[in-house]
Amino acid sequence: MNPFLELGIRHEVVNAITELGFEKPSEIQEKAIPVLLTGNDDFVGLAQTGTGKTAAFGLPLLEQLDFSQKHPQALVLCPTRELCLQIAKDLEKYAKYIDNVNVVAVYGGANISDQLRQIRRGVQIVVATPGRMLDIIGRKAIDFSQVNYVVLDEADEMLNMGFQEDINNILSETPDTKKTWLFSATMPAEVRRIAKNYMTDPVEMTVGTKNTGNANIEHNYYLIRAKDKYAAFKRIVDSNPDIFGIVFCRTKIETQEIAEALIKDGYNADSLHGDLSQQQRDKVMKRYRDRNLQLLIATDVAARGIDVNNVTHVINFSLPDEIENYTHRSGRTARAGKTGISISLVNIKEQSKIRHLEKVIGKSFERKEVPQGSAVVEKQLLTIVDKVQNVEINEDQINQFLPAIMEGFESLSKEDIVKRFASLEFNRFLEYYKDAPDLNIDARDNGRGDRDFDRGERRDRTGSKGFTRLFMNLGSVDEFNRGEILGYICNTTKISGKSIGKIDLKGVFTFFEVQDADVDKVIQGFKGVDFNGRNVRIEVSGEGGSSDRGNRSRSGGGERSGRSRFGNSGGGDRRSGGERRERERSGGGGFRDFSGKRRESKSKY
Ligand code: ADP
Ligand code: MG
Repeated sequence: MNPFLELGIRHEVVNAITELGFEKPSEIQEKAIPVLLTGNDDFVGLAQTGTGKTAAFGLPLLEQLDFSQKHPQALVLCPTRELCLQIAKDLEKYAKYIDNVNVVAVYGGANISDQLRQIRRGVQIVVATPGRMLDIIGRKAIDFSQVNYVVLDEADEMLNMGFQEDINNILSETPDTKKTWLFSATMPAEVRRIAKNYMTDPVEMTVGTKNTGNANIEHNYYLIRAKDKYAAFKRIVDSNPDIFGIVFCRTKIETQEIAEALIKDGYNADSLHGDLSQQQRDKVMKRYRDRNLQLLIATDVAARGIDVNNVTHVINFSLPDEIENYTHRSGRTARAGKTGISISLVNIKEQSKIRHLEKVIGKSFERKEVPQGSAVVEKQLLTIVDKVQNVEINEDQINQFLPAIMEGFESLSKEDIVKRFASLEFNRFLEYYKDAPDLNIDARDNGRGDRDFDRGERRDRTGSKGFTRLFMNLGSVDEFNRGEILGYICNTTKISGKSIGKIDLKGVFTFFEVQDADVDKVIQGFKGVDFNGRNVRIEVSGEGGSSDRGNRSRSGGGERSGRSRFGNSGGGDRRSGGERRERERSGGGGFRDFSGKRRESKSKY
C-alpha cells in the first residue's frame, strides 16, 4: 500500500503527489501528518530546508477542510511573495483531483483587485504574506471568523523580517479555537516566544539537529583577497560549466552590480531583489525555474524559501550577517534528496566567520583552491569535447552537405581540424586566462599579498618593456571603465587589443601603454577625433620609456568568451570588443564596491 495512504491521505491526493514523484513521505511528513490529521493540536515542526514541509502541512490541510463550503478555512502565512506563490501552487497541485478547491495567493506588489476578486469568488485556503494580508483585512474584504487552521511557514524568517506585529494583528482576526501549525528551519528565541504566546501545548517535532543544514550539502570556502572576489567567482563558475546556481549578496545594490557585471561578461545571469516590481521578480523566477537562467543573483529576502529543483551550487558572494541566513541560503541546494555545494568567498578577515559557522551548523568547511587559469581552460575544453562526443547527428540533413564539407577539410589532418575547431571556440577564452594570476592566498597572510599587489601596480607606472605610455584626455568621468576605454582605443585606431598594455584610468584622463611599434598608429588614429564635442588628445607621457621589468604579463587579457553556449551571446555582445577584457586583472576596476566596505551591522558572528 502507498505509504501516504497508510498515513491517512485520501486517494485523490495520493494520486496527485505520486505524479509529482512523491513515493514515500519525508521524515517531517511522516512525523507531522499523523499529528495534524487529528486536528486537535497546535504544532511546531522544525526541519531543515528542502525536507518537504509544504506537504507536511499541505496534505493534512486538504484532509481537514470542507470544500463544499466557500469561506476561508485555512490561512497560511509566509515571509515572501515568491514563497507565497510557490506554496499556493504546490497546494493546488496536491489538490489537483479534489473538486472545488480554491486557493488564493495574497501578496504585495501584485494587483490587489485581482486578489480581492478571487477572495470574493470564494476560497477555502488563503496563502499570504503578512503585509498584504493586513491590507485586505483593513479593507474588511475578508472574513476569517471561520478559519480553523493557521500555518506559520518559515516563522523564523517572518520574525527576522519584522512581521511580528503584523502576525499578531492577523491572528487576532482568527477564532481562538483555531489550531496553529508553525514550521521553521531554525528555532531562535523569537520563534520560541511565538510558540509560547500563541499556541497551547504544541506538539513539537524536530527532524535532524536544530540549526543544522542538510546533510547532502558540501560546504566549501575559498580564501581570496577582497578585491579578487569577482575574478575568483568567475573562475569558479567557469570551472563548473554545468553550474545552475544561486548567488547571494548582502545588499540590493551589490546584487544588481554583480548581475550587471556578469551579464556584461557574457554570463547568463540576472538579479532578484526587493526593488524589482512583482512582475519583474516573477519573470526572473520563471526564467530561472525554466533553466533559461544559469545564475540567479539574489538577496536573502528575495530568495528565501525558494524551491527550485537541481540547484547545483549556492554561492555566498558575501557571507550573510545573520548566521541563520547561511542555513537558509545553503538550503536552496540539495533539495529533495539531491546533493549540492555551498560555496563561500572569504577574505583573511572573514576566516573566523567560517570557524564560527562550522560550530553553529556542526559541519566542517573544506577550503578549496581557486582554480588556476589553465585548469579552467582545460575544464571548458573537456566539456566541449564531451559535447562533441555526445551531440546528436541528424544524418539525413547533414549528408547532403558532407561532400562539400569533406572537400573543404581535405588538406587538413585530423589533428589540424581538432586544433582549429578548439581554437574557433576558445581562442578568446584562452586569451582571457593566459597569464591569469594565482588568486589564492595564504591563510596566515595578513594582507601582505594586497600590499605586494599595490607595489606591482605602482611599479608599472613607467611603461613596460617594449611599450610606450600614452596620455589621453578622456577618463572615468566620461563614463569609461578600463574595458570600455580599451575597446574605444582599439575601435578608433584599428589596432589590436594585444598591442595595449597597462591602462591607468583616472578621472579626467587616462594613461595607457601601447606597443612601441603601434604608437604612431594610435596617435594618427586619434587625429581629429571628437568625443562628445571634445577633441581627443593623445600624447606620449613624460614618464614613458621602457622599464627594467622583463616579461610582465599584459594587463589587458583577451576578450572574454567561452560562454556562448549559455546563451546571451547576442545581448551580451552588444558592446565594443574590449569591454570584457581586463576585469580579472584590473585589480578591481569597477568592482571595488563589491568587496571592501563591510556594512556596519549587528553581526551575530
Ligand atoms: P521545505 O519547505 O522543507 O524547505 P519543500 O516543501 O519546499 O521543502 O520541499 C522541497 C522539495 O521536495 C520540493 O521540490 C518538493 O516537491 C519535494 N518533496 C517534498 N516531499 C517529497 C516527497 N515525499 N517525496 C519526494 N519529493 C518531495
Ligand atoms: Mg518551505
